[in-house]
Amino acid sequence: MPKAQPTTRDRHTTPQVRPTCAGTDSGLLRAVVAGEARLTGEQALTLYHEMPLLELGRWADRRCRRLHGDSIRSYVIDRNINYTNVCTAHCTFCAFRRDARDADSYTLSTEELLGKIAALSEIGGTQILMQGGMNPELPLDWYLNLLQRIKEAFPHIHVHGFSPPEFMEFVDFFEAPGADLREKLLWVMRRMKDAGLDSIPGGGGEIFARPVRRRIGYDKCGATDWLTVMNVAHELGMFTSATMMFGHIEGIADRIHHMLLVRQWQDKAIADFAAGTDDAAAGGRYKAFISWPFQRQNTPLGRMPEWGRQDGEQGEFPGDVVARVDGDGDDKAHPLFAKRFRLAGSTAYLRTQALSRLVLDNIYSIGSSWVTMGPHLGQVALFFGANDMGSVMMEENVVSAAGTTYCMSEAVLCKLIRGAGFIPAQRDNQYNLLRLHDGPDSPDLRVKDWTTQRVEMVQHGASADLESVELSITATREANSATSS
Ligand code: SF4
Repeated sequence: MPKAQPTTRDRHTTPQVRPTCAGTDSGLLRAVVAGEARLTGEQALTLYHEMPLLELGRWADRRCRRLHGDSIRSYVIDRNINYTNVCTAHCTFCAFRRDARDADSYTLSTEELLGKIAALSEIGGTQILMQGGMNPELPLDWYLNLLQRIKEAFPHIHVHGFSPPEFMEFVDFFEAPGADLREKLLWVMRRMKDAGLDSIPGGGGEIFARPVRRRIGYDKCGATDWLTVMNVAHELGMFTSATMMFGHIEGIADRIHHMLLVRQWQDKAIADFAAGTDDAAAGGRYKAFISWPFQRQNTPLGRMPEWGRQDGEQGEFPGDVVARVDGDGDDKAHPLFAKRFRLAGSTAYLRTQALSRLVLDNIYSIGSSWVTMGPHLGQVALFFGANDMGSVMMEENVVSAAGTTYCMSEAVLCKLIRGAGFIPAQRDNQYNLLRLHDGPDSPDLRVKDWTTQRVEMVQHGASADLESVELSITATREANSATSS
């Protein structure tokens, strides 16, 4: 099968900025779509605030079609495995973490983990996304043994695992040798790569701007460390992804600053480690960017008042007063900064995602976030710059601990993509297309009774979660067996 075909070559020349143009200038945006111009932070901010929603979506869609063509939109079958919920950090947006002494703390055994991967493999899955809390009780050998066992049992499964905050703790937990952070990270990451780690997910990105990050991610690494971990992975030739969780205390300029930092470090990765390659799937860089809104339930952050709900509260949101596109905001600029949040609804989500497609001119894939936004908004997101629907969600524990997420089978995911006017295609981690569903044996076109293919809402509670996981596995397995019969 071909790769997800870009209609333009993956460029390694940096587009020029045109700082005197307004962000909404159609000539500038045409050049951005063509890969000939790059948005500045100020232009991106204007675009976010001033361009009508559907118009912004159309520009992002044009850029997406330029890179990914008009016909195919992809998804992957993988499984989120959260190997432990014991964590030394105290992120205020997190409802997943536990202290080791808590009655419901857990660390999965290797056998439990292998069982989960076996269920994934059975339905044609190709990847696990394995992340956990930062658990000081687990030694390096635990991870190396786990990775080796996974690769021995499932050599065809891609291991996308351990986010930058975990690696930052690993260098301390394992007392990694080295003169500086970079050497220590190389020491740990090389061992994990040799044992079977394939790529690094972008967990823990949240918002990079310091005033925001220090208020929401206690005991968690800062932006430079996060980006350095990924840069070391790029040096080792590994793919990574970048993420952003927004819709809390941050301002819009903070979201743009976050995107600009990812773009800047991607330029560096391409220049340092991938120069001279023309392959859109070449390694040693960020492959994808995925952003999603904060889910508030059960979180310390979500218990603070929402902006504008208190008597007399009006005017500019405190996060916007503080935020700067250079990330250098003054957290004293508003007395209620970090004391109020502003949730992101559907249009804020679509605007932010569309903007990410236009700002991140050197990132190949933009993922739709149907897991938090719901299947139908996830479908609409395919017209706001997203080329990929992410994963058939077999299991999700972290975000669902803080609110509602969704769980659905491969057939439903294919139906959503086809319903948007595209041909669904299963991809692997490197965006190689594995199965193009353009015939009558496609998972969705074989379904006779859609009542068996419900989209499940997953809310925290182990039993509800497990039922949804089982439903998704069963539905996908049945659709696959119908396909092969
Ligand atoms: S978000 Fe991750 S790092 Fe932060 S407290 Fe939760 S599990 Fe720990």
